[in-house]
Amino acid sequence: MKIIYVTDLHGNAAKYTRTLETAKKTGAAGVLNGGDMLPLDGDLHGSQNEFVEGFLLGHFSDYAAAGIAWLGMLGNDDLRIHDALFDKVCRKNKNIFNLAQRRVEWGGFEFIGMNWVTDYPFRLKDRCRRDGPGYVFQRQCGAGLLSTPEGFHELPDWPAYAEGLPDMGQELAALPKPGHAAEAIYVIHTPPAGLGLDVIHSGERVGSGAVNRFIAKNQARLTLHGHIHESPEISGVWEAKMENTVCVQPGQAKTALTYVVIDLGSMTVERFVEPM
Ligand SMILES: [Zn+2]
Repeated sequence: MKIIYVTDLHGNAAKYTRTLETAKKTGAAGVLNGGDMLPLDGDLHGSQNEFVEGFLLGHFSDYAAAGIAWLGMLGNDDLRIHDALFDKVCRKNKNIFNLAQRRVEWGGFEFIGMNWVTDYPFRLKDRCRRDGPGYVFQRQCGAGLLSTPEGFHELPDWPAYAEGLPDMGQELAALPKPGHAAEAIYVIHTPPAGLGLDVIHSGERVGSGAVNRFIAKNQARLTLHGHIHESPEISGVWEAKMENTVCVQPGQAKTALTYVVIDLGSMTVERFVEPM
């Protein structure tokens, strides 16, 4: 069974449409989306809500009409206040699944998603977590922000606030358990540390040690990541292996659609970067 994995589309409708067309052309049974789905321009409370209702709703019915499944989740740049609406929109069509912190059985495989991310310097903290005990925060760009229906709520001391939240290791441990661990497919927005899938422009590696340890411990069939758009171009690495687990982070180019086609039977993975 072939699937397409794509991530970090950030509200680019043309890339969404091209992904569905590619799924039809390649005979893929489903498309997986690794998060950061919504636009980053304008007032995010309004523009992201509009994208879910005005684009995704119809786009998901195009998937249903084509008989292609869609499994995905929002990411750290998608405000948490839109979670309920996104979930509702997913439920309106057959074989459209919100994977965030959930286990979904589809096509003979189990898919488990997670969209909590290791903290970063940027202000939006809706889905941010310390990586683990003793976590040292990076220098922050300003006070933290959490989305609320009334607008952003400012957190003057984000590190102190975050100490009261679960860390990445605890969030990963709380995920639903697969029936067959060795066959499970995880979609975890944050890439693991230590594999070259997490390298930013400066060359700094910002991946999660907690995700790395989770993969090493669980030995799943496949883990899919995103978050650091530029990493494959900087490190030259988009696929890695940790014992029995294949880890993929295709990145996302600015002016091209980046995706991978995965044959889940033979576990062959091919990456494409197509100019738009
Ligand atoms: Zn992200």
